[in-house]
Amino acid sequence: SKPVIGFVGLGQMGYPMALNLVAKGGATSFVVYDTSAPVAERLAAASGAGLVTVAKTPSEVAEACDVVVTMLPAGPHVRDVYLHASTGLVAGLARAGRKNALLVDSSTIDVATSKDVARAVESAGSVMLDAPVSGGTLGAEAGTLTFMVGSPNAQTFNTVKDRILVHMGKNIVHCGTVGNGQVAKICNNMMLGISMIAASETMNLGVRLGMDPKLLAGIINTSSGRCWSTDTYNPCPGVLPNVPAARDYTGGFGTSLMAKDLSLAVSAAHESKSTVTLGAVAHQIYNQVSSQKEYKTKDFSAVYKWLNDNSDK
Ligand code: NAD
Repeated sequence: SKPVIGFVGLGQMGYPMALNLVAKGGATSFVVYDTSAPVAERLAAASGAGLVTVAKTPSEVAEACDVVVTMLPAGPHVRDVYLHASTGLVAGLARAGRKNALLVDSSTIDVATSKDVARAVESAGSVMLDAPVSGGTLGAEAGTLTFMVGSPNAQTFNTVKDRILVHMGKNIVHCGTVGNGQVAKICNNMMLGISMIAASETMNLGVRLGMDPKLLAGIINTSSGRCWSTDTYNPCPGVLPNVPAARDYTGGFGTSLMAKDLSLAVSAAHESKSTVTLGAVAHQIYNQVSSQKEYKTKDFSAVYKWLNDNSDK
């Protein structure tokens, strides 16, 4: 029989992901929940008649579904949705006497919360995987997300990949045990946060010393300083077309999302007693940038503009 699929958290990312799952997932019935009832009703209306039911609590979703995907803002929301004593997913599994359900959390959250929640789900006789994504809202809409998945074993990973994740993503990687999806995600984003600041300082210095920005970027991109932040997403206006720097840093990946991901990396480093000197400085810089009103909603490469604003004129 076809599985019943649930989805909790229908925001910027969750809504288009759920739409793709409904369109391509092959299930004959879906149950969704969001604290904002109108977005859940909107999803139901946008799908085929009777295909999507709106639940009143996460526990109702768990009672009805074999597989549930969650896409929530941060750790505390994930804890609440999974572990709330009466309205949580785990409470719903218990109430329905359901075992062997697959719960997939695609939120970007701290490793500790991910592992805690997985343990509680396991005690209830079901399985939770962490599967954070990269690719942004465009990747969510196009169904081309990258999923970084932590799974207790390869078989569960393959089941979730084939039945669920392929309908929302393209590059789907088993990163190891539960929590390792989050590890892969925050490590990549820490590298990115640092390299974008490095690219910005470098371009800003060269331009202020009189170099043509395009010429300087060309030299770097054929030399040892080359990286994604210089050759694909250069933060200096006038170097590349079709990047946020070419349109006053609108669109893209927000400075506050980068600050959030760096805070997760820095706390994980603290917990594992790992030294992340540059990661910690990058975190402070993105905290400062994103706390300023004019930068809050800008792409994270706006750190170039922020540096330039803060350089002596
Ligand atoms: P969002 O704030 O747009 O959406 C979150 C949704 O969850 C909202 O609809 C909200 O109403 C709902 N929600 C909040 N608390 C809830 C609860 N207790 N129960 C049910 N629903 C609840 O966030 P988003 O941009 O969709 O991001 C979701 C996650 O994906 C975050 O962890 C984010 O870091 C990560 N992410 C975002 C992007 C991006 O480009 N936006 C890219 C990669 C990863």
